[in-house]
Amino acid sequence: MGKKVVVFGSYVADLTGTGEHLPRPAETVFGETFRIGPGGKGSNQAVAAHRAGADLRLITKVGKDVFGDLALAFYEKERMDTQFVLVDEEAATGVALICVDEKTKQNQILVVPSACTRFGDRDLRQIEDIIRNADILLLQFEINMDALEKAVDIAKEHEVLIVLNPAPAREVSRELLSKIDIITPNEMEAKALTGVEVTNEESALQAAQVFHRMGIPSVVITMGEKGAFYSGGSGQGMIPARLVKAVDTTGAGDAFNGGLVTALSEGKELEEAVRFGNTTASLSVQKFGTAPSMPYRREIDREEA
Ligand code: ADP
Repeated sequence: MGKKVVVFGSYVADLTGTGEHLPRPAETVFGETFRIGPGGKGSNQAVAAHRAGADLRLITKVGKDVFGDLALAFYEKERMDTQFVLVDEEAATGVALICVDEKTKQNQILVVPSACTRFGDRDLRQIEDIIRNADILLLQFEINMDALEKAVDIAKEHEVLIVLNPAPAREVSRELLSKIDIITPNEMEAKALTGVEVTNEESALQAAQVFHRMGIPSVVITMGEKGAFYSGGSGQGMIPARLVKAVDTTGAGDAFNGGLVTALSEGKELEEAVRFGNTTASLSVQKFGTAPSMPYRREIDREEA
């Protein structure tokens, strides 16, 4: 068994409808298809790590409603530990209302995160031990920042390795960033945090150096079908993505992060962990959906062999 991984992050139910065009303001469009799926960056990354074989605990929060029940049923089916899926007595489960234009594939997304942005002091006391006893803590920006900052402080105090996927992009204090061990932005998030436009290996290195100057020892910048650039640990360089036929790249970053922390939990070096993240993500982009498209360990091993 590898080291203990804890993901502290969001769950939202993805409510996806497709139609022949996106509704304009005040317009009602009859849609064609509708699907409800488990989503949220925290949950997606936890599912990816769990399926990839990590010793994984997810801390998230849902409401006392039908979408919260669906989340719990999904985790049970996945055989994931639901002990730290907290239930908010007052707020609803987070939802993402996703409209997709059938022809152009353009989308419009309204996210109402609700419960997973309401982690309070009582919740923190409840989850403190699990964070303290973790080896790796993986975070994103879809929960309330005060709770995220407290989790970082608990982890820091107990020498837990802190991995931050700074998504979706938002402003954040230098003080918080200086406490992170490994940051994993995509190109857009790297630009938002460093000001460097990342398009290739050279500019990725520049952005990484800005992160290093902020006090972050290891940087991994994911660059879609180009792969991922890493800097820290044993060295730096670009690890190309696997050449595959992508059908749905939503959640690619989530698959990558889940794979990355799983490899790290098994003692792999950063470069090798990035390779494992690339493989995990390359398998997920070949299937539709986010959490349900995450690959199982046997599929990853087959690709890596
Ligand atoms: P995000 O989903 O956060 O925007 P990226 O688009 O950078 O993240 O993708 C994350 C990772 O997923 C990449 O580093 C790569 O390993 C993999 N990936 C994304 N798109 C493709 C693709 N078309 N083919 C193969 N791998 C891909």
